[in-house]
Amino acid sequence: AAETVTVPATRVPDDRPIPAVLGADLEVPVRGGRLVPYANLDYAASAPCLEPVSAAVAAALPAYSSVHRGAGYASQLTTARYEQARHTVRAFVGARPDDAVIFTRNTTDATNLLARSLPAGTTVVVFETEHHASLLPWADVVRLPAPAFPGEAVRAADDALAAIDGPKLLVVTAASNVTGELWPIAALAHIAHRHGARVLVDAAQLVPHRRLNLTALDLDYVVFSGHKLYAPFGTGALIGRSDWLSVAEPYLRGGGAVRAVEDETTDWHDDPEARHEAGTPNVLGAIALAAACDALSATGWDVLVREEERLLARLRTGLAGIEGVHELSLWGPDHARVGIVSFVVDGFTAREVAETLSGEYGIGVRDGKFCAHPFVRHLLGAKDGGCDDVTASAVRASIGVGSTTEHVDRLVEALRDLVTRR
Ligand code: PLP
Repeated sequence: AAETVTVPATRVPDDRPIPAVLGADLEVPVRGGRLVPYANLDYAASAPCLEPVSAAVAAALPAYSSVHRGAGYASQLTTARYEQARHTVRAFVGARPDDAVIFTRNTTDATNLLARSLPAGTTVVVFETEHHASLLPWADVVRLPAPAFPGEAVRAADDALAAIDGPKLLVVTAASNVTGELWPIAALAHIAHRHGARVLVDAAQLVPHRRLNLTALDLDYVVFSGHKLYAPFGTGALIGRSDWLSVAEPYLRGGGAVRAVEDETTDWHDDPEARHEAGTPNVLGAIALAAACDALSATGWDVLVREEERLLARLRTGLAGIEGVHELSLWGPDHARVGIVSFVVDGFTAREVAETLSGEYGIGVRDGKFCAHPFVRHLLGAKDGGCDDVTASAVRASIGVGSTTEHVDRLVEALRDLVTRR
């Protein structure tokens, strides 16, 4: 008989510290002029800066100069830091050694860069549940309706891609910025490849919450933003296959993107990073982004996910216990999700809820349609949902590193309070 080998369970040490965020002791005014500690529940918009990120930027500030061109020490040091940041980002998403890692301003910029780099005649397939950054940049696009369950997403992509000739790209968000729900990106990538298509994953809301491994999932491209990953504004990345990018029209024309400029000819770099990063890059942003990647990896995803799931469960249980508060979800309450919860409150517009939470309780949430108009409209069953349509808006609470039990409990208590005023 085959011997049974029992793999001993690995104990996850509980003592790895979760990094602190800046602004954890911020106090904000509420009605009557009182100051209360700020409960930031708006991480999905922009997450606060991690302390190690701030330290890495502070360490780089005393000696910086232009990258890639200077012979001086500060220039060499800055170049080394910038390229080290690229290396860190590559490792953070588990990219292949020959993948391009192009720094951009944010996810929107990264997606638009890929949109401009598609081979002529490429058809893009995208679900209407996407954030506008993934929905709008494409010239030739097939939009699929919101699927009723994950398997339907795979089937719909299968059918749509089968019907397209020529180059094709499937675009999908890994974690919804509206519901937090996780999409079956591995199955979708598999289907895309069966049809000779490539897949772009918008990981803006995934990478702050879960480990992503582009190689293991067999993804072609990934985009995300630094400011949702605990590194302040102005940085993002497009990571993925080099071939289209190394022949595409340079995203920006200018210094750094060229090997040589003659009277009549311009010889563009075919290295995709140089080709698409013309001009002086946001080096401090890249250093910040890499420091955030390092800090999250050093803490460990097991530790981060465990804490997030504890708080998310507490929040969702709390909301579910309040009559008249309804969480939005595409695939039902049991589907896996990251720390993002959108909801509506009977008798109040989303704006009224968000303003009350801020003005009376010092809680920061987002209200509106979260740059995902078709999806929010679908979730709310709303008919038009133009920007002024308050019935087609929701409230979103989102958590991450630095969120506390008190923040979550304060939100639940505040909503309990609010519904009694109906
Ligand atoms: N994709 C998703 C899923 C998002 O949540 C966001 C931001 O809200 C974006 C893309 C756009 O990110 P950015 O505004 O940083 O370009």
